[in-house]
Amino acid sequence: MIDRAMPLPKDLLASVFGFADFRPGQEEIVDAVMAGRNTLAIMPTGGGKSLCFQLPALCRDGVTVVISPLIALMRDQVRALRAAGVEAGTLTSGNTDEETKAVFSALDQGRLKLLYMAPERLALGATLPMLRRINCTMIAVDEAHCVSQWGHDFRPDYLRIGALRRDLNVPLAAFTATADEETREEIVARLFDGQPPESFLRGFDRPNIHLAFAVKDSPRDQILRFAAARSGQSGIIYCATRAKTETLSQALRSEGHSSCFYHGGMDAEDRRRVEIRFQQEDGLIVAATVAFGMGIDKPDIRWVAHADLPKSIESYYQEIGRAGRDGDKAETLTLYGQDDIRLRRTQIDEGLAPPERKGADHGRLNALLGLAEATACRRQVLLGYFGEAAEPCGNCDLCDRPAIIFDATDAVRKALSAILRTGEWFGAGHLIDILTGNATPKVRERGHDQLPTFAVGKDLSKPAWGAVFRQMMGRDLVRPDPERFGALRMTDAARPILRGEAAITLRRDTIDKATPRAAIKEQVGEEDASLLSALKAKRRSLAEAGGVPAYVVFPDRTLIEMAQRRPTTLDAMMGITGVGAKKLESYGAAFLAVITGADPSAMHPARKKLLGKNSGQVFDQLAEVQVQLQRGADGIGKPLSISSSALRKIAEARPSTLSDLDRIGDLGPAKIERFGPAFLEVLRDA
Ligand code: ADP
Ligand code: ZN
Repeated sequence: MIDRAMPLPKDLLASVFGFADFRPGQEEIVDAVMAGRNTLAIMPTGGGKSLCFQLPALCRDGVTVVISPLIALMRDQVRALRAAGVEAGTLTSGNTDEETKAVFSALDQGRLKLLYMAPERLALGATLPMLRRINCTMIAVDEAHCVSQWGHDFRPDYLRIGALRRDLNVPLAAFTATADEETREEIVARLFDGQPPESFLRGFDRPNIHLAFAVKDSPRDQILRFAAARSGQSGIIYCATRAKTETLSQALRSEGHSSCFYHGGMDAEDRRRVEIRFQQEDGLIVAATVAFGMGIDKPDIRWVAHADLPKSIESYYQEIGRAGRDGDKAETLTLYGQDDIRLRRTQIDEGLAPPERKGADHGRLNALLGLAEATACRRQVLLGYFGEAAEPCGNCDLCDRPAIIFDATDAVRKALSAILRTGEWFGAGHLIDILTGNATPKVRERGHDQLPTFAVGKDLSKPAWGAVFRQMMGRDLVRPDPERFGALRMTDAARPILRGEAAITLRRDTIDKATPRAAIKEQVGEEDASLLSALKAKRRSLAEAGGVPAYVVFPDRTLIEMAQRRPTTLDAMMGITGVGAKKLESYGAAFLAVITGADPSAMHPARKKLLGKNSGQVFDQLAEVQVQLQRGADGIGKPLSISSSALRKIAEARPSTLSDLDRIGDLGPAKIERFGPAFLEVLRDA
């Protein structure tokens, strides 16, 4: 036997992956897996689970077999590993013969450290002997909640993993982001024969994700505004219906965004095409139903919007959790309205579930609505639901702008009284007419203008009453009754308020038009922005040449650090997050050349002509201003841009009046209006 020192995980973390430190929780898990103990790790999406089995696999003897539910996920991981210089391969039904041959020859030569496999392969008789022969010394199970029959991702073949562990008699490390007690118990029972593994439960907070809800008010415009302010960033818009994904993505395209739709009614090939585009392109917006989910493993999704209320807090968190897995800032917006609440209640009531289950479903919906109608830090409410206590977060809409609340006890009692006096047979519209004293024909016909509650609510406007009713539905004080065509009926929860035994506060401001939040601006300061865009251009060309997504070359964070720290040698380059030995070798010189200016190929020819001249800097500043104002100062205008050759002419001639600027750059009125004053300012300072 050769006695060679095994590498330490911490060393490989830096030299292979280029990360200076573990993320919270990773090190303990890596230690346990290294020591060959059975482990179960529950970490939120983006917590960095893969590293927890990849690092030990590289440090230990033999091969680690990784069971993962989706071919696309496996391929992405293997591609990223190979880019970092790690020998890894997949055995799936999607392999070509050559791929499979290459995997086996790497295994036979003892080069391969990680073998990814779909669970279906465990059903084949040849798999066990093969794993024995190649010296499989550890099993890693990704998305371990797929063993749970009650979850939505159940994969029957996952049940074979327990037997595999027994037969191979090797340690098993299971990973998932689903933390509920039942799922955890099922994982222990099915994967570990009921012998509790060493368990790690990471906190659920994703502090880099900004949380925001808004009441629907021309929802389509709300979504379009949100997207426009973030143009060029990758985002997902979740919609309740297939039709909406199509119309919304059409609307986005006609506003100049790059966008496509995705839903379960499309055939598998079209769906896969969208997944690949999303993975590879910068700044694509996908309007999708919740079918767009597990197959996406893109770390740099910058925002997720919900055009309709999600199904539950769990699905909300899973869906927004797809944003910002790289740890950089990400944003979310969830729209909801009275109709969403009505629809969900009715779906539960009209479903086929037994009564206890319906009760539980209403309870879960209440929790979600409680989050939507929260009056203080939204993250506290969210984490509280998962059993975690937290301080106000400073990164949600309610921390940004505290809710304005009012004592609504009186208003709610009036509303309840209107409901009861009309026999619980009417919806909010009619009830509001009664409360505000609007004697419509329907009101008069039924004699409702004779009720003591008629016109007792004149102190609130019609929209204000709408908000009161919506929040009453949200707090489950009233529920639409499907057997009465959605008429509102009082629940037991409302009795104490009706009887004057309890008070209630509601939000007043959700009915005002919210001022849209400014999008997160570019990730670096002004002085580094043009270098960052040159680095991104270099990345794009390398990614295209290699047929890989841009982030596989380097994630944004790495380029940002390069732009800010400006390493001037390959040694210094190695100190940048995300630069490991292999990537340094593959790409180091190319990016270094961009930073030191030795690689003019990343520049536009018009800019290249100005190299070393003072006008070169002026050109960069003008280019920068034009990017900032591309959609106007408010970020929602029609996109306008100016050619690089026009910028060059302007940078060289340096006009000082709008009319000279117009003539020299041949800009025309629209561009002069948008860019003129800002350009003159740049030229004046130059
Ligand atoms: P999960 O599977 O838990 O959702 P991943 O394993 O895909 O998360 O990791 C999410 C992102 O975090 C990846 O882009 C990964 O490269 C990055 N990452 C993981 N560990 C670290 C670390 N220690 N330092 C910096 N980035 C990390
Ligand atoms: Zn907050």
